Amino acid sequence: MSKTNNHQEFFAHFPQTASHAMVDFATDTVFLSSRYLFVRRVGSMQFGYCTHCKQEYLTSSLNGKLGLKHNQDWQCLKCKSLVIVKASGISRKRLIDDAYFVWYEKSAINPKAVVALGIYAVRDYRGDYYKIETEFKTVAMYLFEPGKSRMLRRDYWAERWYEAKSIISEFDHSMKHKRCYLALESVVQAVRRTPFQYSTWGEYTRQSPDLVKFFDLAAKYPCVEYLTKLGLRSFIEAKLYGYNTYGAINWRGKSIEKVLRLSKSEIKEMRSSGLIVNPHG
Ligand SMILES: [Zn+2]
Repeated sequence: MSKTNNHQEFFAHFPQTASHAMVDFATDTVFLSSRYLFVRRVGSMQFGYCTHCKQEYLTSSLNGKLGLKHNQDWQCLKCKSLVIVKASGISRKRLIDDAYFVWYEKSAINPKAVVALGIYAVRDYRGDYYKIETEFKTVAMYLFEPGKSRMLRRDYWAERWYEAKSIISEFDHSMKHKRCYLALESVVQAVRRTPFQYSTWGEYTRQSPDLVKFFDLAAKYPCVEYLTKLGLRSFIEAKLYGYNTYGAINWRGKSIEKVLRLSKSEIKEMRSSGLIVNPHG
């Protein structure tokens, strides 16, 4: 049975094309160290081709002077990138760089929602090095709307999308052994003028490195914002790590009194005492 139809409404929230900002993030952050200068010899001359600025130029023209060496660090004369020199004659069968990153956007259809794309990206230098482009493959998609969140994962081999039972981070699942990044600046843009803007997300990048667990929590429980502001972040941390909060927090409560199961005066007292409260008492 195909689930494709169920997913159409979900996909509608996502941008149709990759943004320039996303591609720039991959180039300038994720693959900053994946810049090479491929050198080749023509008679007594050596030419280098930079995979970043895509320019080829003379790097040595003197007889007896060997020019740049394989695996040497260097700075491209044209774009000033730090590059690693690679001799074009040496095997490149292992020269493939890959990474995973999470990129946030506003929903295309719901002004109160944000979406995130989990992207596996590759720069493959094994073939013709004059034709290297970064290849992007979306492997996870997240939708965070006030009240609910959803995640679709791509079945890598079958190329199908299926719904995850709960929100998970690929940082510690399918991409556990890859270099992983969060595009922090994309979060700032995506949450602006949405209910997630003041959710205090910036305080939880250590506990939720790609923030998907955090936004899952913030989508379901808006009290996250004032719990953080009241100094009760340990409850949120516990929830992010999947620990029990022992019923101390009524996560679905509609007011601070209901969330904390305290009276107004008790909350006032707690605030003025500067007491730090944690789930373990
Ligand atoms: Zn260059």
